[in-house]
Amino acid sequence: MTGFSDASLRERAARVVPGGMYGHLNAALHGDAYPQFFVRGEGARQWDADGREYVDLMCSWGPMIVGHRNPRVEAAAAAQQAYGDCLNGPGPVMVELAELLVDLIPSADWAMFSKNGTDATTQALMVARAATGRTKVLVAHGAYHGADPWCTPGLSGTTPNQRADTIEFTYNDLAGAEAAAEAGDIAAILVTPFKHDSFEDQEFADADFARGLRALADRIGAALVIDDVRAGWRLDLRGSWEPFGVRPDLTAWSKAMANGFPIAAVTGTDALRGPAQTLYSTGSFWFSATAMAAAKATIEILRETDGPALIERAGTRLREGLAAQAASHGFVINQTGPVQIPWLSFEGDATLDKGMRWAAACLGEGVYLHPWHNWFLSTAHTDDEIDRALLGTDAAFAKLRATFGAD
Ligand code: PMP
Repeated sequence: MTGFSDASLRERAARVVPGGMYGHLNAALHGDAYPQFFVRGEGARQWDADGREYVDLMCSWGPMIVGHRNPRVEAAAAAQQAYGDCLNGPGPVMVELAELLVDLIPSADWAMFSKNGTDATTQALMVARAATGRTKVLVAHGAYHGADPWCTPGLSGTTPNQRADTIEFTYNDLAGAEAAAEAGDIAAILVTPFKHDSFEDQEFADADFARGLRALADRIGAALVIDDVRAGWRLDLRGSWEPFGVRPDLTAWSKAMANGFPIAAVTGTDALRGPAQTLYSTGSFWFSATAMAAAKATIEILRETDGPALIERAGTRLREGLAAQAASHGFVINQTGPVQIPWLSFEGDATLDKGMRWAAACLGEGVYLHPWHNWFLSTAHTDDEIDRALLGTDAAFAKLRATFGAD
């Protein structure tokens, strides 16, 4: 692949794509140093259109979980692709994948498939509405559940009606959620397993909050829906609130489910099987078999190798390394969220100015991470890869220290 550069591609894109790029992968949102175009991924590395190589701590914003171009996933996808991908109906692999999910996830008695996380959260709400005959959904203020008109953080192109059915509460504030539920007509409580909003430190869910939402949903007859699109497959393969003993009625899955192949799923309990069956919810590509084969292989690898534990090991090594480096360079940092889905901010850096400069310096040192969105680790992040990343982050701290005086 030659004859282009990041700059030349941006110039061409600006003529034929609105804004040159849009949505969360728009590099204009990430800072001047960020490349827009990428040409290759392998293991824990990515290469941009200028040929620069990075240790990848974003994992394509979540989807990559067992290494870019993981041989077993690629082989499973290629074997399916050789038979055909998009046929007149789903392949046997849809049944196998649904069986795998039902076997793995205690709250899952059935699975429905689609493509993106937004498909899954939207479909889960439709199931909840079909089951309850109600309209409203309780969501945490600032939580991201996708980019359809009902939930996109940007209001452009949406109508007030499309936004009218969500009622907000504050994450980890059970009393607030209970008060919000008094509005009535609540079909679902939709919640992420931890607070992973952009531009701010991440926050774990309190066990009492998680259990309290379960009890609230039961009391008011609404569905508890966990949006595990971002956290799913990295924390606990059974579902991210399983360690709390909290089982949702419905769960939305996507991102890491097929190591980058496009697929999403909703899983649900027997009680919601009937309502789920009543939906007209579909898409031309939702049943393509290649992504399902890739999902099956990905989940099997994660299960056989205890993927979350491997990723936790990588994340712990990274977190400890960063903590030591920050201290040695005299920076006070906050490392928040689970180590598998980490984020780092600088104390008192309300504008994220320091964070942006540090992230840009990391890029310059061959480490791709993010200044305002959580990062993602994978099973491909071996000790060697983490150590390579830490070399870059250390140099970036040193560079930042040269710009800023002592804290
Ligand atoms: N829910 C959560 C928690 C997410 O993080 C995302 C994606 N960032 C979505 C839903 C939407 O997924 P997608 O972008 O695949 O539609």
